[in-house]
Amino acid sequence: MSQVDTNMWAEKLPLIGNIMNQEEVFWVNPLIETTKTGLTKVNVTAEDVKDASDRLKRFAPYIQLVFPETQVSNGILESPLTAIPNMKKELEQNYAVQVPGELLLKQDNAMPISGSIKSRGGIYEVLKHAETLAIEHGLLTKEDDYAKMAGPEFKNLFSKYKIAVGSTGNLGLSIGIMSAKLGFNVTVHMSADAKQWKKDLLREKGVIVIEYPYDFSVAINEGRREAESDPSCYFIDDENSYDLFFGYAVAGERIAAQLKERGTIVDEENPLFVYLPCGVGGSPGGVAFGLKLIFGDNVHCFFAEPTHSPSVLLGMMTGLHEKVSVQEFGLNNLTAADGLAVGRPSHHAGKTMEPLLSGIYTIQDEELFKLLKLLVDSEGIRLEPSALAGMIGPVNTIQRNINESNSQNATHIVWATGGGMVPQSEMDLYYEMGGK
Ligand SMILES: *Cc1c(COP(=O)(O)O)cnc(C)c1O
Repeated sequence: MSQVDTNMWAEKLPLIGNIMNQEEVFWVNPLIETTKTGLTKVNVTAEDVKDASDRLKRFAPYIQLVFPETQVSNGILESPLTAIPNMKKELEQNYAVQVPGELLLKQDNAMPISGSIKSRGGIYEVLKHAETLAIEHGLLTKEDDYAKMAGPEFKNLFSKYKIAVGSTGNLGLSIGIMSAKLGFNVTVHMSADAKQWKKDLLREKGVIVIEYPYDFSVAINEGRREAESDPSCYFIDDENSYDLFFGYAVAGERIAAQLKERGTIVDEENPLFVYLPCGVGGSPGGVAFGLKLIFGDNVHCFFAEPTHSPSVLLGMMTGLHEKVSVQEFGLNNLTAADGLAVGRPSHHAGKTMEPLLSGIYTIQDEELFKLLKLLVDSEGIRLEPSALAGMIGPVNTIQRNINESNSQNATHIVWATGGGMVPQSEMDLYYEMGGK
């Protein structure tokens, strides 16, 4: 059945043999270009990201009104950037490496609404769709105060429309909660990896949850198929969406402002390294793109995938992108990192990252739990397993001295992609999995 000649690939690219053996690997992207050249080869632009940023600003008065927990940030959804010096010591001791630069944690686990990075792209695409409909129906202009969207005439309009999405969990949470708040009828098609508490929480909020005993690819295909037959239904397509990507990319300007505020310099002598957990590639791709727009050649972005689900890695290495799945390479796509349990990559994120990404590494589930426990013990910060995939990044690049990552002028940012809404009992189990 498999159309991919895995033997041929393993011979051509020996690292593929290691990947097929479920070993942890580190891949340096041979196709990376200078950022200036790279940006001319992709079909997304700085204007796309600016448009998303402006739209989020227009929506801020509405967000602040309907999610009062966002009043502190005036309706802008953002997360803290936190120094984690104690965790840095733990990494040094546990992995026998010196980390001379500073180690920071981008705490998207503390993102409002979904407690994950999905509050960037997912929320953004729902808002954009709502804005489009409201303008089409003459209820809104871009100059209005968007707080009016909390009114009954908007809820009435949106209640005539549907939104659907396929998800391993967190995307469903962000899109389900935001869509339900606006008044849409929303259906989330959940893969087998999705946690029970996420399904329960969505149903409590009036979201229709359809469960599949299969992986993400099946859930998303079913959702897409069902949405296609209904013209009132808008499908948020995690494998194809550019709007999700632009929503994520706004993180670039946000973190640039946070770095500036804390006095962290990024330039030729002071490089920035960013480690991003990766599923389909949309969220890490969007964030990395946003960062490259701002910091250019002075930022080095790496994706992190589970050893059982290296879909973007196989897609980028072979250049076949969405045409390959991890299953075709004999891997089962089973991982405790549910946010990363994706067997087939996005149709565009890997291609877009081809000239811009520094590399990808894989990590075993066992390491995720070990790092999860270390972070709780050293910093008191609780993340979901997926969100720890970036934590081993500094160790991996420093051991290889990639792009002078072992300089004391380097800053390393681990992107903590989620965990903010995980129930305590669930979190206790994760912690125990981290061993003694
Ligand atoms: C979705 C998700 C990711 C990866 O995002 P993709 O867009 O699928 O690559 C990483 N971590 C967490 C916690 C997630 O929910």
